[in-house]
Amino acid sequence: MDFEERIVAPDMTSMDNDIEVSLRPKVLTDYIGQEKAKENLEVYIKAALSRGEALDHVLLYGPPGLGKTTLAGIIANEMNVNLRVTSGPAIEKQGDLAALLTNLNEGDVLFIDEIHRLNRSVEEVLYPAMEDNALDIIIGKGPSARSIRLDLPKFTLVGATTRAGQLSAPLRDRFGVILRLELYTPEELAQIVTRSAGILGIDIEKYGALEIASRSRGTPRIANRLLKRARDFAQIRGNGVIDEDSADYALDKMEIDNLGLDNIDRLLLETMIKSYNGGPVGLETIAAAIGEEAITIEDVYEPYLMQIGFLGRTPRGRVATPAAYEHLGIINPNTQMTF
Ligand code: ADP
Repeated sequence: MDFEERIVAPDMTSMDNDIEVSLRPKVLTDYIGQEKAKENLEVYIKAALSRGEALDHVLLYGPPGLGKTTLAGIIANEMNVNLRVTSGPAIEKQGDLAALLTNLNEGDVLFIDEIHRLNRSVEEVLYPAMEDNALDIIIGKGPSARSIRLDLPKFTLVGATTRAGQLSAPLRDRFGVILRLELYTPEELAQIVTRSAGILGIDIEKYGALEIASRSRGTPRIANRLLKRARDFAQIRGNGVIDEDSADYALDKMEIDNLGLDNIDRLLLETMIKSYNGGPVGLETIAAAIGEEAITIEDVYEPYLMQIGFLGRTPRGRVATPAAYEHLGIINPNTQMTF
């Protein structure tokens, strides 16, 4: 299956373009869940506002689709400043970043998605910018080269990454606020689905929302996407209302099981169980066996499989848990009773 077409892929794809922007909450009180991160952020924002200062640099990390970009927008909005959005791979040269930085206004938020993918030389421009609001420019070449320092407006860098461990230490240390986003509970996702349905004018019942929520792998982006598809089924095959039955019908048609696993998740677990006796098996080995990249497995599939207790990480490799055997209906020889 092409990853791009995977309905439960947490990355943003063309499937989301039309609605993603309209569904993004604009203020902190509309941002559902992530209570810990939200509570702290609220304090930092209020404190910075009351001192009339820019907010300290914020690093957001966690799996894709959990609301990092949304939160960057909320920060800018709550601070009453502009938001500039870019990403690590988009900033190729030092000059690209210098241009971005010199175009900021006082207090602005610069959001760099996938900040772990910034190249090293670009990162070096960021250090003095984050620390001293300064830009060091080298003029000339060879022995006559000299460096001049330009002042930058005070700004807030919001960096987002799926892998905080891949950030270089000097960069990580320059963030004053580091917030980890967690997968959402089904109840929180049901609230998000209900809110989105309200915005999109979709008729949904409580148990319809919960059904979609419990199959969305802890990820708002997936929940919103499934909501749209469930609406199609309710409209064409039902009476237009998403209730528990019509949601269930739609999700079955999309081959998303009652825990939100799709064919690839099941293939991953089945391969571990059938070919490697449930593990421990190395990440690279699993990746080769199912034809996915190791990094994708680690960032996209594993967080949810670990959250629902189907997969464990051990020093010797990944293991499928008894709950995974049970879910797939495979007898677990390791837990067979012997009489
Ligand atoms: P990320 O940047 O982490 O990949 P996004 O910020 O793009 O994720 O969020 C994806 C979508 O999920 C957004 O369009 C937004 O509508 C929705 N979303 C994310 N977090 C929340 C939340 N806490 N409350 C409501 N909707 C959310």
